[in-house]
This record gives sequence, structure tokens and C-alpha cells, in this order.
Amino acid sequence: MKSFIITIAIAFLSLTSFSQQAEVENRLAENQLKEKDITNSKTQKPVIIIGGGVAGLSAANRLKESNIPFIILEGSDHLGGRALTLDIAGNNSSWIEMGAAWIDDHKTNSVYHMLNEVNTEVVPTSFNPRIYDQKTNQWKGGLGAINTMLKFQKNNKKILQVSDEFANLKEKVDAILPGNPKREDYFMLKSTQEMLNGGTLEEMHQNVFSPGYWAYLNYKETSSVMITGGYKKLIDLLSSKLTNEEVRLNHWVTSVSVLQDSSIVVKTSDETIFEGSQVIVTVPLGVLKSGTIKFEPEFSKRKQGAIERVGFGDVEKVALSFKNAFWRKNQNKAGALFSIPDPIESYGAIVDVTETTGARPGASTTPSLACIFGAEKAKWAAENPEDAVKLVLSDLKKMFPETYEEPIATAVSNWTTSPFSKGCYAFASVDTKLGDFRILAEPTHNGRILFAGDAYAVDTYMGSVEGAFISGERAANVIIQKR
Ligand SMILES: Cc1cc2nc3c(=O)[nH]c(=O)nc-3n(C[C@H](O)[C@H](O)[C@H](O)COP(=O)(O)OP(=O)(O)OC[C@H]3O[C@@H](n4cnc5c(N)ncnc54)[C@H](O)[C@@H]3O)c2cc1C
Repeated sequence: MKSFIITIAIAFLSLTSFSQQAEVENRLAENQLKEKDITNSKTQKPVIIIGGGVAGLSAANRLKESNIPFIILEGSDHLGGRALTLDIAGNNSSWIEMGAAWIDDHKTNSVYHMLNEVNTEVVPTSFNPRIYDQKTNQWKGGLGAINTMLKFQKNNKKILQVSDEFANLKEKVDAILPGNPKREDYFMLKSTQEMLNGGTLEEMHQNVFSPGYWAYLNYKETSSVMITGGYKKLIDLLSSKLTNEEVRLNHWVTSVSVLQDSSIVVKTSDETIFEGSQVIVTVPLGVLKSGTIKFEPEFSKRKQGAIERVGFGDVEKVALSFKNAFWRKNQNKAGALFSIPDPIESYGAIVDVTETTGARPGASTTPSLACIFGAEKAKWAAENPEDAVKLVLSDLKKMFPETYEEPIATAVSNWTTSPFSKGCYAFASVDTKLGDFRILAEPTHNGRILFAGDAYAVDTYMGSVEGAFISGERAANVIIQKR
């Protein structure tokens, strides 16, 4: 009975594929003048890389080293994806990260070593927190802030323990923190977790940080640095050897069809068609979740289930440049400011990023802050960028009434609302099952479609630039080994 159903299913799939193939062949004929680079010889068909972020660029470089033809189809008008450094005041000394900013565990981080080889300067980051409470209009004071951080670290250890008791991280946090936690303790826990994951405490899996659940993550938290001039340096490095023929900007992919002969047809929003031998999908998980790219045949239930169950969070940044670093107690010392709203809600941290705003080592810098909003507040900021700037400025005014000054430039990210990201990075949601991240990374369509990117980077530092980089190379290596 089972094999009968399978036979019927295969016959049905074959019919569908044949009719798709005929349609696509007609479309290819119609499009030949429009897209002159479509190759008809099977051996010459390029690998099509969807997305020109770190994963796509890393895969492209690896394929290029092996002389395998490829085309990157990038939907937006620039490369780099969620690694986006903007010179917000346009003075070549206010380069601020709107997406990725830190290189974590830098001593063992392959991206750091690659940048180090081309003499890129990095700046060690110190957390150095100062906490302001909007309810009492008071600073917690240096010692208070440090105590809170110590308590947070201690509580965080309990959070690391695997548990099956709670429905979500909020329940776990409530149970772990003492009966009536201090406002600053609760805020620090909530805001840092929501910034790191992008989901609300209620959306996060209870074991979101436990080593068991996140065994794939491979993150040791030993050190962290930021790049002078930003991740732009990495994107420039990775794109330096690629040609305009190999990189197509403003090519927004809307469908990927695997044909009967196993070749693949990729269509963009302006109906241009590309034919390839294999596809490396590097679009963020948020884009896959949204269904804006149609895959034919559809993903299996197993794959689609993992796409739906793994969370994809929201984190946004409000970047601000000023004439003077009016917030600094000690003019030589950067750090992070926390402003606790009343009542406590998602907020995040305001990080002093001045040291990294220069274009190169020794270049002049502009006093700058990056306010990182997590979860609900991030969604709000993406939808209301002007209000988000006003909110951060009014908080800074309250914190530093005597020294406050107006910014010379501002910028707000839009990862949550952009059709090219639809969020910030993946996290284990209450629905996520153990093994889902591995399923996300698995190739589909008999190995013709591969996945690379931060959410498909199992066994590396997932959710990071390094994870994206390694997974891009990994996908390219699979293709290279099969040739
Ligand atoms: C706010 C924020 C802070 C972060 N902080 C850090 C950090 O400090 N350190 C760190 O290591 N990582 C950080 N990350 C994560 C890091 O940015 C990502 O892990 C990494 O950049 C992902 O690279 P990627 O190539 O996998 O995806 P992306 O960079 O998202 O690249 C995917 C590309 O696909 C394109 N695309 C999407 N849809 C289509 C389509 N239909 N057709 C064609 N092209 C399409 C996009 O435009 C994009 O260029 C942060 C991310 C965010 C959002």
C-alpha cells in the first residue's frame, strides 16, 4: 500500500516537473534576448548564489578559487547584507555598524584572522555599564551597576542549566530571580537576552542559552573586539576579486524551480530567468519564513516545519553622531549606557562606538553612540524611525541634562521591515525542536539546493558573521567535491 502511494506520488511529481519544464523552456526562449548570460551547455551552467551577504560572498570566493562559474543574485543595491557599515555624518569618520558589529571569540575567529592578514585594526570592547533608572531619575552608581552585572552573571548561570519545567524563558527567569527582583536586575536580564536573540522572553525557548540546546553554537565568550571602520572592511575584501558579471545587484529572486533534468531555473522580480547547475540559498531565515521565494517542488514537510519552528528575532539600531562625547565620565573611556524605562519594557543598550568610527587606523573619529533595541522595541523602531531617534535623544537628555547636545547625524536600521531580511537573526523559540537547526542546514532537491548563512551554520558560531562565512565555504566545498 505504501509503495503504491509512493509510485502515484512520483508519477504526479514527474508530470508536474515536465509541465514546469516545458513552461520554463518557453520562458527561457522568450528571455534569451533579455538575459544574454543564460548558458545552455550543462557543463557551463553556473552555480547560482542567492544573496550577496557574507555567506554568499564567501561561497563565491571559494568557487572562484576552484574555477567553478557562479552568479550572485543580490536583491538589494549593495553587497554585505546584515553586515552594513554606514558613514552616517558623511565625513568619512562616522562609520557605524547598522548590523553586525562585534567579532566574538576573536582569537579563534576565522574572520578576525582573515582581516588581521590585511592589517585591519580592531578595538577591544569593554562592557563598562552605567545604569540610569527613569523611574527615580537616578544613576545606579558605579558600584551598583557592577553589582547588578555580577548578580546578572550569577543568575545567567542558572539560566544556562537545562530544564524542562517552564513554557518559555520568561517563566524560567521569573522562577530564578528572587521573589521581588530589583528593577535593574530584571531589566538587565530581559534587555540583554532580548538584544542577543531578538525574541521576547515569552517567545524564547526556556533553554535558549543552555549548552545542550545550543551545542551547535560553539560560542565560548572569551573575548570580543570591534573593527575600526567596521565590517565594511570585510565586505570590501570579500568582493574585491569578483566581477560585475559575477555579481548582479538589484536582482530580487522570487522563484527557484528544479527541473526534471535536475537543472535549476531561478527567476527574479523583473521576470529575468537564470539557469544554473546548483543553487546556494543564503537569504536570511526571515525571508524563507515569509515565503516570498517560491520553491518548486516545494520543500518537504520536515524542512518547512523547521523553517516555521525556528524563531527569527528583531533587533534594530539607532546610530547617533555628536560633536562631543558628552556622556563620558572619563573622556578616554567608552562603555555602555542602560536606561531603564518605567514600566520595564524591551529596550536594550546604548553603546559608545566612537573608537571604531574612523575609516582606518589613526584616522579621526566622531563621538558616536549605537542604541540597540531588541524584540518589541526593535519592531517599533523599524516602523517609527523618527520616533525612535526622538526617544533615544530624550533619554540621553534626561541622563545628561547639563552636557546634552543635539546630534550632527542619525540613522536607523530597518532589518525587521526590509524584504531582504525580515528580522535580525535566528533563535530557539518555544516551538523549536532539538535538531531543527540541523534540518535547516540540510540541502534539498536531491542536493541541488544548498543552504549557507548564519541560520544554517551548525557546528560553527551560528547567528554570526563567522558562522555565515564558514557555512558559505562549506556549501561551496560540497559543490567542488562533487565535480
Ligand atoms: C542588528 C544586528 C546585529 C548583529 N550583530 C552581530 C555581531 O555583533 N557580530 C556578529 O558576528 N554577527 C552579528 N549579527 C549577525 C550577522 O550580521 C549575520 O549573521 C551575518 O551578517 C549574516 O550573513 P548572511 O550572509 O548569512 O546573511 P545576510 O547578510 O542577510 O545576506 C543575505 C543576502 O541576501 C539578500 N537577499 C534576501 N532576499 C533575497 C532575494 N529574494 N533575492 C536576492 N537576494 C536576497 C539580502 O539582501 C542579503 O544581502 C548581527 C545582525 C544584526 C541584524
